[in-house]
Amino acid sequence: RVRTRFAPSPTGFIHLGNIRSALYPWAFARATGGDFILRIEDTDVERSTQAAVDVILESLEWLGMQPDEGPFYQMQRMDRYREVLEQLKAGGHVYPCYMSMQELDALREQQMANKEKPRYNGLWRPESGKQLPPIPEGVQPVLRFRNPQGGVVAWDDKVKGRIEIRNDELDDLVIARPDGTPTYNFCVVVDDIDMAITHVIRGDDHVNNTPRQINIFLALGAQPPVYAHLPTVLNEQGEKMSKRHGAKPVTQYRDEGYLPDAMINYLARLGWSHGDDEIFSRQQFIEWFNLDHLGRSAAQFDEAKLRWVNSQHLKAMEDGALAQLVAPQLAKRGFAACDATQLRAVCALFKDRCDTTVALADWAERLLGESVPEAAQERAEHVTAAVVPALDTLAKALAECPWERPAIAAAIKKTLAEHGLKMPQLAMPVRVLVAGTAHTPSVDALLELMGREKVLARLGKR
Ligand code: GLU
Repeated sequence: RVRTRFAPSPTGFIHLGNIRSALYPWAFARATGGDFILRIEDTDVERSTQAAVDVILESLEWLGMQPDEGPFYQMQRMDRYREVLEQLKAGGHVYPCYMSMQELDALREQQMANKEKPRYNGLWRPESGKQLPPIPEGVQPVLRFRNPQGGVVAWDDKVKGRIEIRNDELDDLVIARPDGTPTYNFCVVVDDIDMAITHVIRGDDHVNNTPRQINIFLALGAQPPVYAHLPTVLNEQGEKMSKRHGAKPVTQYRDEGYLPDAMINYLARLGWSHGDDEIFSRQQFIEWFNLDHLGRSAAQFDEAKLRWVNSQHLKAMEDGALAQLVAPQLAKRGFAACDATQLRAVCALFKDRCDTTVALADWAERLLGESVPEAAQERAEHVTAAVVPALDTLAKALAECPWERPAIAAAIKKTLAEHGLKMPQLAMPVRVLVAGTAHTPSVDALLELMGREKVLARLGKR
């Protein structure tokens, strides 16, 4: 059974680049009928925050990517790491190292001066027949992993292909600090074993950790998972996407009126493809997703493209379902009194020209709210003295006709004939008066959805 995981560190608000590292493992679990596990890697206590954890949970919930298991928190698993550390000790896979920071620095400087790669020199690594230095007084040692010597660590990366690293390039990793707390790479391996992870799909900033992690798997007698290291997501300036470079938290896209399915669609295409298909549903994505079509090159975020994808999903949505996503946007602005039928009509009439639910909420507020935007310039241009008599006639006709689109259209037509006007000469001032802008869809549909009372009140305010 496939088991994947998303293992974010809550040290900043997750952005789109991060959440893509959740999307693929989630989709792979869904596509294969497996499990998707959430693990919060919060061992960097200084930089981890509850607020960042909350954004992770909220983002996954908003996008409908809830985990089957978790969240598990690494800080709550310390006892387990210590237990496994004992296992490694018993197997002779770790040894204490008393080299001080100063000594390590000196070693590094010397190696750099010799143009060598800086690495631990194995001074405290026990070997048969080797004399270890005398143990210094009062120094708490770190524990180092006894990396195998000779041979290679190899894996078939689902994105990068076969990777082989010579063991001689890997030095003996510190896996427990002087106070006994386990270090990052070790915790990840213990977790991936305990959580029975079969596929590790993560950012390629971790690719250098992988050979070290594989060696720890092997020392613990466990089978390493399949790895897929995803290329970086770049921001619009071509830099690695990061909060420091202005990346927005995922939840901000929700607040800006993006649809979960559109986000999934857009993110899916940032590093994976299904032929030339650009627009697809969540269900299609899950059906199509596999690890064989992950891209090898860095993908660049493009907000205009995301907006376009969102507009495509918005248009395709059923009006009632769309209205349910617009309602919370209105509620957030304190605009509560919104009739569900009317809101649905706003969606039906305006979804072709809006690219976010926020834009739809703007229309709803404009048409169904208490006041019309000023639009002084458009008023001056369209609501001229010459058209006032026709507006009076129209208001009278609208006060009496049945409130349905054909009757409204007929009232407009009759007014035009009576005053010898062409459609735009009347429709433009009507739009400006009722909606505060001359740019709206068909005027009879607009009036119908606003309701007689509001239309007459606004037509009267000239
Ligand atoms: N916690 C790591 C990160 O946020 C991910 C580690 C992993 O996926 O193995 O980058």
